[in-house]
Amino acid sequence: MTSKKAVQIVEMLLEIKTRHKQNLEKPENDWGIDVVGRLVQREITSLSNEISWLGALKKEIAPPCKHPKKMQDMCEGQKYCMNCNLDL
Ligand SMILES: [Zn+2]
Repeated sequence: MTSKKAVQIVEMLLEIKTRHKQNLEKPENDWGIDVVGRLVQREITSLSNEISWLGALKKEIAPPCKHPKKMQDMCEGQKYCMNCNLDL
């Protein structure tokens, strides 16, 4: 079994960061080009970085399983791969 909680935490963070970035990028928000606009732009760049780091982290802790079906088994109602321990 994979560390389900760790994957869930990373997914939750990804969702929060992505939603925050999308809210900042909404076209109806006119942040202007002064201090506020620059701060928002910096925040968007920072969020983009965090989103890609979290995506890379998720891939590390839950890489997609490419093992054959015969390696699948069930544990407490959850199908998983006996080779890489990933929940399927
Ligand atoms: Zn696998």
